[in-house]
Amino acid sequence: MTWSNWQVPPFVTSVFFVLGVLTLYWVTFNWIASWIHNRRINLSDDVISTWYGVIYMLVFVFSIQTLVVGKSDSWQFMNFQLIAITFCAYFLNIYVPYYSFFPIVLVYMVFNQSLGYWQSWGHAITLMLFFWTLNIIRVRFHNNSYAFPIYLLTTISFGGPLWVWMKWKFNFSWGTFWQEWIYLTIFEILLYMYVTMISNDSELKLRLAQFASHDALTKTENFAAYNDDIKYLFEDSNQNDQSLSMMMFDIDHFKNINDTYGHSVGDHVLRQVSSVVKTVLAANDTEIKFYRTGGEEFNIVFPGYDVDETRVVVNQVFAAVNNMEVKSNNDSIRISISVGVSEMCPDDKSPIDFYNRVDQNLYHSKRNGRMQVTFA
Ligand code: GH3
Ligand code: MG
Ligand code: MG
Repeated sequence: MTWSNWQVPPFVTSVFFVLGVLTLYWVTFNWIASWIHNRRINLSDDVISTWYGVIYMLVFVFSIQTLVVGKSDSWQFMNFQLIAITFCAYFLNIYVPYYSFFPIVLVYMVFNQSLGYWQSWGHAITLMLFFWTLNIIRVRFHNNSYAFPIYLLTTISFGGPLWVWMKWKFNFSWGTFWQEWIYLTIFEILLYMYVTMISNDSELKLRLAQFASHDALTKTENFAAYNDDIKYLFEDSNQNDQSLSMMMFDIDHFKNINDTYGHSVGDHVLRQVSSVVKTVLAANDTEIKFYRTGGEEFNIVFPGYDVDETRVVVNQVFAAVNNMEVKSNNDSIRISISVGVSEMCPDDKSPIDFYNRVDQNLYHSKRNGRMQVTFA
């Protein structure tokens, strides 16, 4: 077989073409998303996938149409375009309000030289209804066990009318009409299967990433996450001449809690402490980072804060934890913490120098009788 004697049926080529377009979307989306996250730009994956999805699919729809525009068979790529639209409306669940949808459709009709055809107007209106119906069934039935039959029913019911408008406009045979409708249905099924497989895979990756950077007991970020972040924050603060402060705390005589009440009560205390600290931090500044760096040791990093600026938050955390009462059966367990705080200095060669100074301050608090804060 040679290029000039290509024996693969067009339908098979089309299947791989559609899968190729989707795979390229995924690969480039992942690349863009990790580029953005590595630069710590504050954009969620949802926002990136919405914008990138719209741009990618619009470029795709318009560019394949340039190959056939003005010809008597300019309908021949319609199934690919409907797949792109289904992907945006259902799988990316992009919501396009009518006031942006209508101009896009108009531009497309001008570009496709079809403004003067009543059939094209019928088609455009059906297409918009198809898009919004996909939006709605995605939101309503996505987690339902009937999600797939509902999706299939919707795509089949709209496929017929969408192709009928084209049949009336271009006057091709009923045989072609049925064939295109069936092809569309097969593509929609393949699309569903393919996207489901890929998203299961990316959910797994997401869970693994979450597992690697979070502590399973308290759901707080762990030492590995701290290590990654502090390297970046240290460099960034140095380059931009910004302050960076850190607060470390360790629960006092925690071993006694385990020995007296048991390990599971100890675990409960750790979860309660994290939860109280998270509440205090969230009420102050969401840029402050919190980690469980060891067994009963925690670390709070304040980007952009010098030591004095941390005082309010440090004192709130200190007071909140020291006033906590954790119930175990009829007992009420009192907790206290010892704290060390410091800020990054010009002499710090690496994040470890900075960390060691905070650690020394924490041990100063321990040696001096515990339940106290050392700022230095
Ligand atoms: P200090 O005031 O000097 O900090 O005394 P301490 O008893 O808190 O410190 P020590 O380092 O002697 O003991 C820490 C204990 O924390 C020992 C360990 O069993 C316990 N621990 C570490 N991780 C966990 C955990 O995930 N769950 C529970 N329940 N205990 C833990
Ligand atoms: Mg301790
Ligand atoms: Mg300790």
